[in-house]
Amino acid sequence: MKEQSESRTTDLPSMDARRRVLIVGGVAGGASCAARLRRLDESVEILMIDRGPYVSFANCGLPYYVGNVISDERKLLVASREMFHERFNIDVQTDTEVIGIDRSMRTVTMRDVHTGNTRTERYDVLVLSPGAAPIRPALPGVDLPGVFAVRTIPDSRRIRSWITDHNARSAVVVGGGFIGLEMVENLIHRELSVAILEKLPQVMPPLDPEMAVPLMEHLAAKGVRLHLGDGLARIEERAGAGLVVVAESCARLPADLVILAIGVRPETMLAKDAGLEIGPRGGIVVDAQMRTCDPNIWAVGDVVEVQDVLTGQETVLPLAGPANRQGRIAAESIAGRAARFRGVQATAVVGVLGLTVASTGASEKGLRRAGVTGFQKVYLHPGHHAGYYPGAREIHLKLVFSVADGRILGAQAVGFEGVEKRIDVIATAIQFNGTVHDLAEAELCYAPQFGAAKDPVNLAGMLGENVLNGDMPVADWSELEQTDALLLDVREVDEFSRGHIPKAINLPLSQLRSRYRELPNARDIWVCCAVGQRAYFATRFLTQHGYRSRNLSGGYTTYKALKAAGLAP
Ligand code: FAD
Repeated sequence: MKEQSESRTTDLPSMDARRRVLIVGGVAGGASCAARLRRLDESVEILMIDRGPYVSFANCGLPYYVGNVISDERKLLVASREMFHERFNIDVQTDTEVIGIDRSMRTVTMRDVHTGNTRTERYDVLVLSPGAAPIRPALPGVDLPGVFAVRTIPDSRRIRSWITDHNARSAVVVGGGFIGLEMVENLIHRELSVAILEKLPQVMPPLDPEMAVPLMEHLAAKGVRLHLGDGLARIEERAGAGLVVVAESCARLPADLVILAIGVRPETMLAKDAGLEIGPRGGIVVDAQMRTCDPNIWAVGDVVEVQDVLTGQETVLPLAGPANRQGRIAAESIAGRAARFRGVQATAVVGVLGLTVASTGASEKGLRRAGVTGFQKVYLHPGHHAGYYPGAREIHLKLVFSVADGRILGAQAVGFEGVEKRIDVIATAIQFNGTVHDLAEAELCYAPQFGAAKDPVNLAGMLGENVLNGDMPVADWSELEQTDALLLDVREVDEFSRGHIPKAINLPLSQLRSRYRELPNARDIWVCCAVGQRAYFATRFLTQHGYRSRNLSGGYTTYKALKAAGLAP
């Protein structure tokens, strides 16, 4: 995102009744912009153009329409063309594609997608919200019947019909990101057997690998076949009927239908042809008011590049929340109000067959990629509510924070209940530059069925504080193989015998006070338990008795996830 240039000279027409605003794309960003602008200014003429048959539809609901969780297609239509006209005096032109922009004349050329007829429309202000298109790699077979991407209502309608008409029993979903996973869930609702082919060694690429492990185990437990670390080579027709997805490894995955969900690419063709600036991440460059390098053209949503507030780097983030907020900010800016888009921190959630996965801010791998150092992390696995109340379920939570000032950099969580609530609280704290101390002190709802007097968010903050003030030095799991430290497991004997870190010795916490003198005090001691709590107690005890001890954060539960992700011996 460009630095905001308050003094940029714009030759915007005055706010008179003739001002004409054209909006290309009438869904998340475009529709938000149109409706907000009308609320701010009754005098402007607003024309919203979309090449599809609908505007303002719920793209996020499409997988659930395929899965029949949403069975009535009309429920996906948030607002109709008629509603825009009657309620907001906004003209909507559907089935009309904008095919060119003449910036010097301030006109756009548009084509009726049915007749092919073209016409030209004048604008004073142009807003681009054309979104991002699913990537279709140039590989043999990707255009065969039965191979689908999911972007529009007609796309999901076609998938529904294909399942019914071909009595589809199996599917391969290529790509294990959030749209791919939502499709997996919904195809399973339709009783298909599903395989995922994913190029990376993990699903949900934004997560750190070890945090994706519970998700992958859950998918496998639900019968989803995972082909990880293997890319798509081609798709073939199967003799008789159906398809075969051929992986780069030459593995052959038969399927009655294939979903391509390998990511999206900003739809920048119009902008490029018009000479608008495109950034290094492939999105339109905008300033904090969502204005492009042309002062009469704004751009919002999946098509723009924005700044990641944590790494400071440019990014593209195809999510509905940012698109809606950007649409609103563009409207404010067009109406002459001061408004700034603050950037993004990538707060996201996905539900997969009962499991919830959510994250906000930077991941550890994202920070490393961006060359950021000086951060620390803690893992914890608390119940989603008080343990004494029936039904508490574990949340796997990872918090990453700055060592210099305790500022929260990111969090990821996986579990069955209460996951998104914790990530939303941490996301809000990040927005206000919160620290681990703020999380430790956060006053949150508590009754036994909802949380705990020390909520998982408080606990995450307290662990972070303990690391920063030296009460709980943590050892780095990635150094497990190289360290000379004594690995001390303080779980009970039976727990230890069921599995432990290689080379660890067992001295249960319940015996530590009477037996600690058996431990060598000239050697570093890295302490492990089931989830980190008993190891913390042991670390405090040992430290106060002159030992150099560190906690292996998250305990054996985290170790197993790291090992499954190939990050621990
Ligand atoms: P869109 O909403 O995609 O709208 C762009 C519109 O512009 C389209 O209707 C397109 O037809 C039209 N258009 C493009 N070019 C032209 C042209 N030249 N002329 C005329 N019209 C044009 N995000 C979340 O945060 N949570 C979710 O759970 C979630 N689930 C999703 C599930 C699916 C299946 C999909 C596809 C997306 C999901 N998203 C989700 C992402 C979210 O929908 C997008 O980030 C958001 O819709 C982007 O808004 P936008 O206005 O930039 O683009």
